[in-house]
Amino acid sequence: MDRMTKGKNSNDRNDWRFMGQDKYLLGVALQYVPYARMSKEWSHDHCVFCSDRFSEYDGDLHEGYCTMDKKHWICEKCFNDFKDLFKW
Ligand SMILES: [Zn+2]
Repeated sequence: MDRMTKGKNSNDRNDWRFMGQDKYLLGVALQYVPYARMSKEWSHDHCVFCSDRFSEYDGDLHEGYCTMDKKHWICEKCFNDFKDLFKW
């Protein structure tokens, strides 16, 4: 009877965006920061869940959550969808 919520539900390992990110993101410290390119050669990153693009260009995401070493980026929507599952 829960067909309406199925698939829409987040904090769910069956979510299409969940691909084992808990191996490196479970319970880690995150910071909400504006995106800044790492170097001339490295101009953008992708949300580790939905692949939305972070960059300094128009049309891309300009801020979001990232790990303290800025290796992994997570967009605001995915952060909210997975924060309980990942204990952020
Ligand atoms: Zn995302």
